[in-house]
Amino acid sequence: MTKCAAVIIGAGPAGLTAAIEFQRRSQISPIVIESSREVGGISRTVRYKGNRMDIGGHRFFSKSDRVMKWWLDMMPIEPGADADGYLGYHGQRRDLPKTAPGCNAQTEDLVMLVRQRKSRIYFLRRFFDYPIRVTASTLRKLGGVRTLRCGLSYLRTILLPQREEKSLEDFLVNRFGKQLYLTFFKSYTEKVWGVPCREISAEWGAQRIKGLSLKKVIFHFLRSTFMPSSSDGIAQKNTETSLIERFLYPKFGPGQLWEHVADVIRDGGGEFHFGIVIDRIVVDGSRVVSVEGLNEAGERCSFYGDHFLSTMPVRDLIRALSCEVPREVIEISEGLIYRDFITVGLLVRRLAINEDDGSPLKDNWVYIQEPDVMMGRLQIYNNWSPSMVSSLDKVWIGLEFFCSDTDEMWKLSDLAMTKLAIDEAARIGILKADDVEDSHVVRVPKTYPAYFGTYNRFDIIRRYIDGFENLFLVGRNGMHKYNNQDHSMLTAMAAVENITSGTVSKENIWAINTEMDYHESQTEKSL
Ligand SMILES: Cc1cc2nc3c(=O)[nH]c(=O)nc-3n(C[C@H](O)[C@H](O)[C@H](O)COP(=O)(O)OP(=O)(O)OC[C@H]3O[C@@H](n4cnc5c(N)ncnc54)[C@H](O)[C@@H]3O)c2cc1C
Repeated sequence: MTKCAAVIIGAGPAGLTAAIEFQRRSQISPIVIESSREVGGISRTVRYKGNRMDIGGHRFFSKSDRVMKWWLDMMPIEPGADADGYLGYHGQRRDLPKTAPGCNAQTEDLVMLVRQRKSRIYFLRRFFDYPIRVTASTLRKLGGVRTLRCGLSYLRTILLPQREEKSLEDFLVNRFGKQLYLTFFKSYTEKVWGVPCREISAEWGAQRIKGLSLKKVIFHFLRSTFMPSSSDGIAQKNTETSLIERFLYPKFGPGQLWEHVADVIRDGGGEFHFGIVIDRIVVDGSRVVSVEGLNEAGERCSFYGDHFLSTMPVRDLIRALSCEVPREVIEISEGLIYRDFITVGLLVRRLAINEDDGSPLKDNWVYIQEPDVMMGRLQIYNNWSPSMVSSLDKVWIGLEFFCSDTDEMWKLSDLAMTKLAIDEAARIGILKADDVEDSHVVRVPKTYPAYFGTYNRFDIIRRYIDGFENLFLVGRNGMHKYNNQDHSMLTAMAAVENITSGTVSKENIWAINTEMDYHESQTEKSL
């Protein structure tokens, strides 16, 4: 009997999960084609002279037991971490599984660290809690005039709300008042998406901000100010711990997990082909026959299989189809919008800002709300894992910029981009330019599939592609979903299960929830 093959486009979390699941559950051989030279996709770890960069900072937490177990079967938790016994993420908690006996993070590298999140908002050259809390310190930092303005504009909103919420701006102003919206939402949200908040739909806000409003923030302030010990000790303690976010993190960054997964796939006989950009999907009627792409030598390669899984961006996939694609599908696909991402890694002697007690900043990342710079976030890799840094007497940071590949910024040389990043960081007081010792620029196209443009008609593309019975769309750009790794993995698992069970429908894959209430940028949750 000839062995079946599954051709998988992309070696990110979705593609690698699919490959290993085929090996675990079937006789189907995975053939993974990857355009870059690395595995992990957006969740890779970039190496630079002994230092490591994480594109965006990847917290490992999932509501799915299956995903948590999957990760921990690959990499056990560091020993001692189960002392406190839980992980927490956006108000959700789960117990921490026990560490495998004999495992030691000091001597063993293949481990998950348990990290406690710290991230704040940097605005007015000061730090504000994230999510913002109304405390005496917040009001002091905002200053009397701004606080008064925020209060008055909130009152105005209560008395004269915008009746019809058409845009994200209307949505936010109605919940927080104009001044707070301008202070804590507008700049960062527009940096991420590159469009004014008034051009983003209100439904999007409703979906993402679920139940958050100034009323609740004020209620928490009053309760903590006037009834600090009114509840019994245990309940109070529980409330506090539920707000503490703790997540898993591979010792050497997210890519370490995916590199290990790729090794396991190779050991199981799986095939990898790197440096090949798939640009043609050859179809015959309702089936895909093969995919083609150019390798680095400029030669055209073809890959044949029985099943095809794609994690490549939907727009690229539609362009690659060999058949005549309906005009409407092309129009919607060409109207899909993506945001691109640049991280400038800087190795610095020290930062120019510290904690109040003079110790180094403890944040994993900081939201840069300052409107006079383009920078969106600052990652402090030392605080994700000390193993991300070659020398612990240095600070290894990532300055993150959101842009579009058509922007001037995307086309800047590495030197010019580094200069821009250093200038901005120095301008807002994060570092002194003289303290920068080294730098590394990473550009990642299509990091954010956007839910505007033609996205509201995406169903038409979906129905069309689902018509190819042996083609399965999985993952982030594969399905145009603003997701986390666990969603990519679950869609890959579902696709493999459909294939191995002979299920042609893809409904169950599309039905997997991206868990809209916990996402990486949390743009809209700034309050
Ligand atoms: C800033 C940021 C922060 C994030 N933080 C978190 C977090 O805290 N926790 C979390 O779980 N997730 C986080 N994520 C999400 C996570 O990165 C993604 O969910 C995950 O990487 C998606 O995996 P994927 O395999 O679906 O896609 P990708 O990671 O995009 O992988 C797709 C792969 O396909 C390859 N490819 C594309 N086109 C072609 C082609 N034509 N031919 C061949 N190969 C191709 C690409 O090179 C890539 O390797 C974050 C994302 C971003 C951008």
